[in-house]
Amino acid sequence: MPFKDPQRKRAYEREFQREWHARRKREFFVGMVCEQCGAEEDLELCHPTGGRLRDLTGGINPWSLSKEKFEDLLTVTAIYCAACKRRKVWLQHDWEGLRKAGVVE
Ligand SMILES: [Zn+2]
Repeated sequence: MPFKDPQRKRAYEREFQREWHARRKREFFVGMVCEQCGAEEDLELCHPTGGRLRDLTGGINPWSLSKEKFEDLLTVTAIYCAACKRRKVWLQHDWEGLRKAGVVE
């Protein structure tokens, strides 16, 4: 579809990519369960130590990776539901470091 307005073209492409990522994500998690609690919904890929997935992919959205790179990523990530991911990130928080830095009591 030819766009006269480059801004509209960019907006369209962004939207297209967002949809594409969402579909890839949905299809990937079909038949999978949370490694912690066995939930089948709200599944997410998790960084092994609670960091950001993009730190493992050189800043690339994991759902944009090529099949090979995505499979590499899967060898280090866990699959958690949203609730378990929150709990994991919470537990892995550097509470001692934050306390020393005076951020928390
Ligand atoms: Zn879970």
